Amino acid sequence: MNSLPVGLGARIASAQPALWCNPGRRPLARLATHLAACPAAIDDAENRLRRFAPLLARLFPELAASAGLIESPLIPLPGFAERLGAGSARVLLKADHALPVSGSVKARGGIHAVLAAAERVAAAEGLLGIGEDRLVLGSERARAIFAERTISVGSTGNLGMSIGIAGRALGFRVVVHMSADAKAWKRDRLRRLGAVVVEHAGDYLAACATARAEAAQDPRTSFIDDENSPDLLFGYAVAGRRLGAQLAALGIVVDSNRPLVLHLPCGVGGAPGGVALGTRLALGDGALAITAEPVQAPCLLLGLASGCHDGIAAADLGLHGRTLADGLAVPRVSGLVSRLVEPLLDGCATVTDEELCTHVATLHRHYGLRLEPSATAGVGSLRLLLASADGTAMRTTLRQTCAIDEAVHILWATGGSLIPDEEFATILARAG
Ligand SMILES: *Cc1c(COP(=O)(O)O)cnc(C)c1O
Repeated sequence: MNSLPVGLGARIASAQPALWCNPGRRPLARLATHLAACPAAIDDAENRLRRFAPLLARLFPELAASAGLIESPLIPLPGFAERLGAGSARVLLKADHALPVSGSVKARGGIHAVLAAAERVAAAEGLLGIGEDRLVLGSERARAIFAERTISVGSTGNLGMSIGIAGRALGFRVVVHMSADAKAWKRDRLRRLGAVVVEHAGDYLAACATARAEAAQDPRTSFIDDENSPDLLFGYAVAGRRLGAQLAALGIVVDSNRPLVLHLPCGVGGAPGGVALGTRLALGDGALAITAEPVQAPCLLLGLASGCHDGIAAADLGLHGRTLADGLAVPRVSGLVSRLVEPLLDGCATVTDEELCTHVATLHRHYGLRLEPSATAGVGSLRLLLASADGTAMRTTLRQTCAIDEAVHILWATGGSLIPDEEFATILARAG
């Protein structure tokens, strides 16, 4: 079943960092059928977020300034490539670690999925007339209905936080099934919000499987399925649409003469897949995307490089799967995402835990940023692309279709601003 290229399989099995160039990447002109349903689905998600903005601004005071829009800035990182020993490329950081409400990229997909679930419940209960303002879903009557309903989710931490915060703010019961990788502070914070946290000894997929099975028994439970959720995926994709304006504000226009490379930390695949999808559709073929995963949990790399998608797992190569990058500790990719992104992604990279910690420290020391280890995985893919033998080979391939040496790079920082001080100090200490 495992048809990985020989050299690559051996490197993945020995947990060495690798950068794989995806031979299946296709230009948009050849993807019309494959992506036919996507633009309308992203429109839908974007409109839902807009419809809910007034209610979100009321529920979360921190959103008042943005009138209910959950967005993060795009920050220049002057001198960053030089610091990595990777030339002088222009590098920006997309600050999703500081997204309002839940402090991670999950504030995009996760909160969107809660809003979609709330609309379905409200419609079924006759709460929503045609064109009804979503402020009605903050009413006492709506809260009383939501209090009788459960939203459940399996999570390594950050998805549970986003679902928990948004679900509780609307008045839902929330049950979060957490894997053994989940950090204690994330569990504690959820419990303080009134969410039920079920701790599992096993990995993330085991926690999800239990949540899915329990939800199937109860018609009053909405299960948000991280492995198979269009609501999550298209919620993330909205970010790509908004990126164009942020780039334009910095004077950056993307095309094949001035490409953009997104470096995207990857767990089950929804967040990076959605962002890559939304960005490619918005900015065209000059927008490239590389995912980055822990060497112990390279599930998307395995799925794409073998062609097996969710039919292959880290354990099949003898990897133990443990990593400091709790947000990325996923043994098997989402089949939905893997099949969708197969012709969209340019490559997949892997990073060691030690390297993640070093990047957390560098970004803190020189740029004052507070990222969790998962969120720095994209620095690993940037380094591999610009300063490794794999990267040299990949850039040679990419030069056939774009001016890769002129590219602007975006590190997608996916989480960390809510990390408690003590926890952050431990990570910095690890970096030495
Ligand atoms: C969830 C998460 C990711 C990756 O998202 P997936 O949808 O699981 O691929 C990356 N970084 C952080 C910090 C996360 O919490």
